[in-house]
Amino acid sequence: MGKIIQLDDHLSNKIAAGEVVERPASVVKELVENSIDAHSSRIEIELEEGGLSLIRIIDNGDGIEPEDCELAFSRHATSKIKEEQDLFQIRTMGFRGEALPSIASVSQMEMKTGTGTGAGTALSIMNGQIQSVSSTNARKGTDITVRHLFYNTPARLKHMKTINTELGNISDVINRLALGHPEISFRLRHNGRDLLNTNGSGNVLNVIAAVYGMNVARNMVPVSARSLDYVIEGYIAKPEITRASRTYVSLFMNGRYIRNYAVQRAVLQAYHTLLPIGRYPLVVLSITMDPSIIDVNVHPSKLEARLSKEPELNSLVEEEVRKVLRKLRLIPEPSSSL
Ligand code: ADP
Ligand code: MG
Repeated sequence: MGKIIQLDDHLSNKIAAGEVVERPASVVKELVENSIDAHSSRIEIELEEGGLSLIRIIDNGDGIEPEDCELAFSRHATSKIKEEQDLFQIRTMGFRGEALPSIASVSQMEMKTGTGTGAGTALSIMNGQIQSVSSTNARKGTDITVRHLFYNTPARLKHMKTINTELGNISDVINRLALGHPEISFRLRHNGRDLLNTNGSGNVLNVIAAVYGMNVARNMVPVSARSLDYVIEGYIAKPEITRASRTYVSLFMNGRYIRNYAVQRAVLQAYHTLLPIGRYPLVVLSITMDPSIIDVNVHPSKLEARLSKEPELNSLVEEEVRKVLRKLRLIPEPSSSL
């Protein structure tokens, strides 16, 4: 008698949730990324108790067709890729079809969505089981509420930090999404209080002002360069603005916040002697490239990526940052020109 069984969907979703949904910030990241993929121009995030009792995301994006609503909550169901080839040409934030079923398996969720033509759909789902689906007159866009996250996974719930820590993590996530998408207006509220508002003007300097404050924004200088495969745009701080950690060097690749040690090091090398030891610059760089040279299918959270032409990018970044700093007359000209 064999001993192996195929796990049912509910159980396998809960296992996947362990990876995709680590804490409230990961829920917020997944849902807001869905709103971005749906071409929203405005995204509102409302939280209660650091997201542990309530996370609500309201967008004005494409919405979901009535016939797709239930399917959206089943595992590996996605509208973003169709075939193997697409994996090497990812243009969206999501593609794994795991977020909605994972979140639904560890919370109570409600969704109201409409595409702007015909009736919308209201759906509620609890512990991964659909409770009700009905027609409703919804505006164009999607409104998702997640309540009582991890209520049915006590061990995970016990691991949650204080409300302030969870809120801090969510703020970091939203700040990065806003910096990577200056063309989208974001609003973040916690317990009825506004924490971030961006205007969606498309100018990243406005987002830098909203996230880091006016004083920082006034001391940023623009960078802009291109090579065969890469285009970089963004702002770097004058060396008098420093931070105690290198996490203020924010890199966005095709709109996605990416941790990349090599590119970060290229930035730091360009500043080199201009900063005191143990101090780091504040930098926001948006790097765009053909999606075929970046592989984001490295980890479920997509925080890391593999680049096929990394040395080219590193030297482009280092040269451009160096050039801009030199223009500020802070780096001496090479000796040959003296
Ligand atoms: P993925 O984003 O990897 O495709 P998800 O589980 O996050 O997987 O979402 C499943 C599908 O539900 C998406 O492919 C998309 O078609 C739809 N969807 C989810 N959220 C939204 C939203 N806010 N607006 C429009 N469609 C959405
Ligand atoms: Mg998604």
